[in-house]
Amino acid sequence: MKGFAMLEIGKTGWIEKEKPECGVNDAIIKPLALSPCTSDVHTVWEGAIGERHNMILGHEGCGVVVEVGSNVKDFKVGDRVMVAAITPDWNSLEAQGGYPMHSGGMLAGWKFSNFKDGVFAEYFHVNDADGNLAHLPDTISPEEACMLSDMVPTGFHGVELADVQFGDTVLVIGIGPVGLMAVAGANLRGASRILAVGTRPVCIEAAKGYGATDFISYKDGPIDEQVLKLTNGKGVDKIIIAGGGVETFEPAIKCLKPGGNIGNVNYLGEGVYVNIPREEWGVGMGHKQINGGLMPGGRLRLQKLASLIEVGKLDVKPLLTHKFKGFEHVEDALMLMKDKPRDLIKPVVILE
Ligand code: NAD
Ligand code: ZN
Repeated sequence: MKGFAMLEIGKTGWIEKEKPECGVNDAIIKPLALSPCTSDVHTVWEGAIGERHNMILGHEGCGVVVEVGSNVKDFKVGDRVMVAAITPDWNSLEAQGGYPMHSGGMLAGWKFSNFKDGVFAEYFHVNDADGNLAHLPDTISPEEACMLSDMVPTGFHGVELADVQFGDTVLVIGIGPVGLMAVAGANLRGASRILAVGTRPVCIEAAKGYGATDFISYKDGPIDEQVLKLTNGKGVDKIIIAGGGVETFEPAIKCLKPGGNIGNVNYLGEGVYVNIPREEWGVGMGHKQINGGLMPGGRLRLQKLASLIEVGKLDVKPLLTHKFKGFEHVEDALMLMKDKPRDLIKPVVILE
């Protein structure tokens, strides 16, 4: 089969590989739609997970089941399915302990284009099919389903980690697709004001649609000063970080109220330490919590998040700014993600 792969750090290309083998608990999927992710860019061009040779990229997609293992109960050949980017081993102790994304070791629930070939292939393998697949509802298009693999569950996990409550004033740092879904999630959780940090007009427009009320540019000076000005010196109740680097934690702590939470879903690619400003962290006693997490996967979560689209409470279509038709365009879509033209939020490739 054909796949689009990382050949080595900094190098991509099309390769031929054997079709993956289906274990007794697993499924083999033929993709219907695929989407590249900022994480694919980090993987190839920043060497984020270290060297990989001829590893097929991609972890966002949906498809049709072409093979199932003998133990799989709820899925059969021909079913149209959604798949999350994170595919835990649901029998692991970590999953039983409530952290499926760390099944088998820290971050090890992330398997696609990390420990095994990803989804940018004619066929891809899903472990623990009953736990990691969900039936694709007729009312959700394959391109929308791609956003349920990673963008929706990750942005919403930021909201969960920040523990957004009714009436909270929330700051979202970074409004790429993940941050935009954090805005949407905070809005659904009943936030009052949602302050968004971002500069690109296409993202600001989308953020307004998802419920952002105020906008801040990190290019106009320190974020904390701008937030404190907008909130009459009070600061915000909750913060979700979905962009920037290690430097975002300092302004975040400075404009977070005591008792507030930071939910970080951002990948920190550089630096040895995250700086926490001592005084503004209440000299160690400010009850300002920092929670950082990889999103959980799983069928239940996929079904629940899909139900928000089904009833019309969440619309992922504004994320899909660039559409391609045909498997061969996976490469163009990934290059677009790498080059990030100003009018891009997410590219998607439709195969059927
Ligand atoms: P993205 O690059 O499209 O968006 C990030 C945005 O942050 C960009 O628009 C960028 O301009 C902006 N930004 C850069 N510096 C900033 C700063 N100092 N302050 C505020 N904004 C700044 O990426 P994305 O696809 O939205 O993903 C966001 C992050 O989430 C990435 O690091 C990605 O790797 C990570 N991610 C994490 C998970 C998880 O499970 N935790 C899953 C998927 C992606
Ligand atoms: Zn992703």
